[in-house]
Amino acid sequence: MKRRYSDVSKERNYKATDSKRCWTEISLSRIKRNFKIYGGSLPEGFKIIPVIKADAYGHGASAVAKALSPLGVPLFAVATVDEAVQLRRDGVSEEILILGYTSPEEAERLYEYGLTQTLTDDFYAEELAAATDKRLVAQYAIDTGMHRIGLDACFPSRCERAIRRGAELFRLNGLFTHLASADSGEEKGRVMAQAQIERFSHVAKRVEDMALPFVHCLNTAGGLSYAELPECVGRFVRLGISLYGLAPSEEVLLPSGIEPALSWYATVASVRAVKRGETVGYGTDFRMERSGIIATLTAGYADGYSRSASCGRAYVLINGQRAPVVGRVCMDQTMVDVSRVSHVRAGDTAVLIGRSGEEIITADGLGRMLGTIGYEVVCGISPRVAKYYGNGTEITD
Ligand SMILES: *Cc1c(COP(=O)(O)O)cnc(C)c1O
Repeated sequence: MKRRYSDVSKERNYKATDSKRCWTEISLSRIKRNFKIYGGSLPEGFKIIPVIKADAYGHGASAVAKALSPLGVPLFAVATVDEAVQLRRDGVSEEILILGYTSPEEAERLYEYGLTQTLTDDFYAEELAAATDKRLVAQYAIDTGMHRIGLDACFPSRCERAIRRGAELFRLNGLFTHLASADSGEEKGRVMAQAQIERFSHVAKRVEDMALPFVHCLNTAGGLSYAELPECVGRFVRLGISLYGLAPSEEVLLPSGIEPALSWYATVASVRAVKRGETVGYGTDFRMERSGIIATLTAGYADGYSRSASCGRAYVLINGQRAPVVGRVCMDQTMVDVSRVSHVRAGDTAVLIGRSGEEIITADGLGRMLGTIGYEVVCGISPRVAKYYGNGTEITD
């Protein structure tokens, strides 16, 4: 039988020093397996660039990088220079691409740590090159329709000129673009994604003679739907969300076997009876419609448990049953209604994301309850939440 999550009561080995307040459990072997399964779904010759920005979507960037490194990674991608420097300090030696803007004031740091900087436009390229006498490594972003960063692909000859100039200023080793609607199941989304890929290939072909080693245009969703497209240039997928077992959107079907790698827990601090008509938490808005039992959890919005979960928008799992949030989520604590949950006691574990008995809350599912996406849920788990790594062997099929 397939089990999507480890069962905390059976599989967590607490050490006396462990914080049992609010914590995540992350399976690195699950992440490795997701990497392999996703890689296996790609056409021959494709390689994965793991995207480990935002602390690997809350899973711990250095731990994830070290787990994936032995599988053969051509390049890691992060969002900021600080994220990249942290990886270097933790001993990651692969090439690291910073996908976003870095101040030219950081030029020396880029050089010192051997980082690859994205060039967001030709003006930035000149400015960054002028900020140091070292020759930095860089890749050019191409704007094919997202209108976020990059050279405007609507003007291919201008792009070509800027790219060739970039190769004089930098050790330019790549070109990439980002798809805005690869996760869409709608026709207009597919049309847009294909148009972006065509624009990108137009630009890439003009500089084919430069033989840039890293040409890439696909994210998780793009790799699943567009890798086979004849116009698709480059043999890389920048794999983010599905490395962690989550789907880019509800419309994207993941290859079977890709499963979430993170569970999130808090502890029941206190249990009390509250009478009908009493309020719970801050404010006077939430009143008990009938007398019931309230459990107070050791997680709040400062831990990343969103205030949007307030007043029944979301629920947690305790002893295999659902306990809806009552009142407003506080900074460090959250109250849930356990009137219908059997035998709840202080010290019990509450599952914010993960499995409890037969019930499961996924990050995507919690995102839906909160009116957002799984990406924001996992990235929002705060650094004060302790991370525990299982080698994952306990999670078996
Ligand atoms: C975040 C990001 C990705 C990864 O996207 P997923 O949908 O998580 O796969 C890829 N490319 C760029 C430029 C990004 O910013």
